[in-house]
Amino acid sequence: MYDFLIVGAGYAGSVLAERLAREAGKQVLLVDRRNHIAGNAYDLYNDDGILIHKYGPHIFHTNSKEVFEYLGQFTEWRPYEHRVEASVDGQLVPIPINLDTINKLYGLNLDSFGVEEFLKKVAEPIEHVRTSEDQVVSKVGRELYEKFFKNYTKKQWGMDPSELDASVAARIPVRTNRDNRYFTDTYQAMPLHGYTRMFERMLAHPNIHIMLNTDYRSIEGEIDYKEMIYTGPVDEFFDNCYGKLPYRSLEFKHETHNVSVFQPAPVVNYPNENLYTRITEFKYLTGQEHLKTSIVYEFPLAEGDPYYPVPRPENQELYKKYKALADAMPGVHFVGRLATYKYYNMDQVAAQALTMFKKIMGEKQEEHHAAADRATVQLAHSFAMAHKMRTNGNGSALPHEYLEH
Ligand SMILES: Cc1cc2nc3c(=O)[nH]c(=O)nc-3n(C[C@H](O)[C@H](O)[C@H](O)COP(=O)(O)OP(=O)(O)OC[C@H]3O[C@@H](n4cnc5c(N)ncnc54)[C@H](O)[C@@H]3O)c2cc1C
Repeated sequence: MYDFLIVGAGYAGSVLAERLAREAGKQVLLVDRRNHIAGNAYDLYNDDGILIHKYGPHIFHTNSKEVFEYLGQFTEWRPYEHRVEASVDGQLVPIPINLDTINKLYGLNLDSFGVEEFLKKVAEPIEHVRTSEDQVVSKVGRELYEKFFKNYTKKQWGMDPSELDASVAARIPVRTNRDNRYFTDTYQAMPLHGYTRMFERMLAHPNIHIMLNTDYRSIEGEIDYKEMIYTGPVDEFFDNCYGKLPYRSLEFKHETHNVSVFQPAPVVNYPNENLYTRITEFKYLTGQEHLKTSIVYEFPLAEGDPYYPVPRPENQELYKKYKALADAMPGVHFVGRLATYKYYNMDQVAAQALTMFKKIMGEKQEEHHAAADRATVQLAHSFAMAHKMRTNGNGSALPHEYLEH
C-alpha cells in the first residue's frame, strides 16, 4: 500500500516525492512514462561524452531563496549568467535589445540617454494594448518589432503576434544600458553535475519507489494507494472530455561538431531566416571542457509532445473547465506545468510543488469541494469512480460490481 502514487518524475513530481518521503515519512510510488527521471530538464552525456539537454536548453534562474536553497541540498551550483544573441540584418546583436543592440544595428554611438530618446521617437503609442504586436510596437516601434519579434513569434507559435495575448510579449525587457544578461534574477546558476544527477540525489530515499516506461493508467488497477499527485496533461486525465487543450511542440535536432567552439554565444536566435528558432551550444551552459562541441536546433511544431500552452483567451476558458473538475476531484492533486496548463519555469514549478506539499500536509478533504458546482462535482465523482475501479478498490465505498472489472 502506497500513501501516494505520483505521476511524472519532473520537477513537480520529484520535489513532492522527496518532501513526502523524507519530511513526512510517506511511502511513494513515482511513475513516468518516459525512460528517465527529471522530466523536460533531463540531461545526459551523449556518445561523445558531452553533457547535453535532451529537451532543449534549461537554464536555472530564480529570485526565490527558498527554492535555490532547497535544490541546493541535492547539487552544488556553478555560477552561470545566460547570454543570447540574435542574427539580424546579417550580424549578431545582443538580445534583449539594449544600448549595444541599437548602436550595432544602426551604426550609431548613442549613450543611455540617446537610446532612451531613440526609443521614444520610434515607439508608437497604442491606447488599448491587446495583442503581442501592440505590446512590442508600443515599446520599440514597428521596425524593431519586425526585425526581432514578428517572424520569431510566427515561427514559435505558428501565429501572427496580432493573434496572441499581449501577455506573451509583456515580459520582454528593453534596456537602455549595456546589460546583456538574458535574466536578471538574484540566483543564476547551473547544477554542477547536471540536472539528472540532482534529481537522482533528490529521489534517493528508501520510501521512494520509481517505475519508468510506465503510464500510470497501465498500473492503476494493480497497486493500492491512498492519494494521487498528477503532473501530466490535465485534459488527458479527464479523457479530453471538454476537448483537447492546444499546445505548441518542438523538434530537437542534436549535432556534435569536431571543433571546440561552434558559435560566439551560448544561444543564437534566428528571428527571420531558417526554419529553426535558435541554436544552443551546451558547453557554454555546463562549463564542460571538450575538444568537440554539441549543439541543438529547435524547430517549432504544431503536433508532438506538449511543451508550451498556447496563450489565447479561449484556451484559458477551456482550461478553467478542466480546473473546476480537477478542484472537485477527491484524493488527486494536480501540480506542474501540464496539470495546470501554464508555462512555468523550473523554479516556479519547484515552488508550486513545495507549496502543494505544505497544503497536503495541512489539508482537510472538504476544502476540495468548496467552489465547484453540482454538475462538476458529479462529473468529477464519476472520474473518481473510474480511477478507483482501476485501483482495485483501495478501501473505497464502491459497489462490488465496479471492483471486479
Ligand atoms: C524547450 C524548453 C526549454 C525550457 N527552458 C527552460 C529554462 O531555460 N529555464 C527554466 O526554468 N525552465 C525552462 N523550461 C521549463 C521547464 O522544462 C519546466 O518548468 C519543467 O520541466 C516543468 O516540470 P514539470 O514537472 O511540471 O513537468 P515535466 O518536466 O514535463 O514532467 C512531467 C512528467 O510527467 C510525465 N507524464 C505525463 N503523463 C504521464 C502519464 N500518463 N503516466 C506517466 N508519466 C506521465 C512526463 O513523461 C514527464 O516526464 C523549458 C521548457 C521547454 C519545453
